[in-house]
Amino acid sequence: MSEILRKQFLRHVAQTSPSPQLIEVERAEGVFFYTPEGKPYYDLISGVSVSNVGHANRAVVEAVQRQAAEYMHIMVYGEMVERPQVEFARLLAQTLPDPLDSVYFLNSGAEAVEGALKLAKRYTGRTEMISMRRAYHGSTHGAMSMMGQPEGEEWKSAFRPLLPDTKAIRFNHKEDLKQITERTACVLCEPVQGEAGVRPPEDGFLQALRERCTEVGALLIFDEIQMGMGRSGEMFAMQRYGVTPDVVCLAKALGGGMPLGAFVSSQEIMATLTHDPVLGHITTFGGHPVCCAAGLAAMRYLIDNKVVEDVERKGAMYEELLRDHPAVREIRRSGLLLAVELGASEKLYRLMDIFIEEGILSDWFLYCDTAFRISPPLVISDEEIGDSVRLIRKCLDRL
Ligand code: PLP
Repeated sequence: MSEILRKQFLRHVAQTSPSPQLIEVERAEGVFFYTPEGKPYYDLISGVSVSNVGHANRAVVEAVQRQAAEYMHIMVYGEMVERPQVEFARLLAQTLPDPLDSVYFLNSGAEAVEGALKLAKRYTGRTEMISMRRAYHGSTHGAMSMMGQPEGEEWKSAFRPLLPDTKAIRFNHKEDLKQITERTACVLCEPVQGEAGVRPPEDGFLQALRERCTEVGALLIFDEIQMGMGRSGEMFAMQRYGVTPDVVCLAKALGGGMPLGAFVSSQEIMATLTHDPVLGHITTFGGHPVCCAAGLAAMRYLIDNKVVEDVERKGAMYEELLRDHPAVREIRRSGLLLAVELGASEKLYRLMDIFIEEGILSDWFLYCDTAFRISPPLVISDEEIGDSVRLIRKCLDRL
């Protein structure tokens, strides 16, 4: 078992059995959560890029309470018209670039990826599906099949056989794009690779990828599950890079803290899931009215309070205030998602324990256990950034 897997296993054991190192959560507010003893923790993970509007956001809490009191689950299909779904789908379609105007709501990120892959197979009539190395798209069979090789192999090998006809090419390597051919149904790509340790695209890579997919008739699917809803400094990372995919997968912050995913495409492409068979993707709870009400309130909060407009500046502030610390080798960043590189996993594991002592929750990345994550709620104030940096630097000094 590799060191990274061993650590994850130990953490899982810690999470599932009582141990003095467990952190019990009593309540959460803004960028903090608190233990029953009242110890505050800076949340620098945001539930893995979920809590973008901050914990216990009033607008979201009220929307959830209101919707729960009106109605919860009726049925998410067909003849039922449920206002939270319709209004949220409308706002998403208005905000996403054309022609992304048909929204299919689901339960999670992995389910959004599953839906998008099925859509690509149905629309193109092809079977080959290409992903990027060091990609993470979820943990179901289909999504796991698209985990980048060979890095994802440790997870994948335990569950084979997975989907056939999949392969991974290198992110940011234009020369690999020729492997996308007339056989390819789709290419699934995070515009900024998150779990690889925050790897933004190099100039022109996403454009070249778009061109190649168009040339051979393969669908380009962006996985914006981690970067969407403002984390990159634009509402959607595709807007930052000026490249529009055929399908986009959303989840995490989409539900404002409630479980919600979606894949969004054009009406023309999405229509292929409506026939032969009639229900191309089936989900009981996908687009649950309470989750849609929460997601809608969260997205409106981001827009009304111009939260996203300030994300790039806040991310740059973290970078600026941390980069001269002697323990920091490099900082990779997109908006308010930072990977602070220490260059050695032993140091990082030690730092995580020190963080917990000092009241900081951070983490490393699935494919990178030498860098720690800074991804606070996007509503973090300048004062909180300054104060959390002071704490981080204090912890780094102790290494
Ligand atoms: N895609 C990306 C880029 C992710 O970061 C994740 C989760 O970390 C997923 C997909 C899977 O989402 P979920 O855990 O909701 O299935």
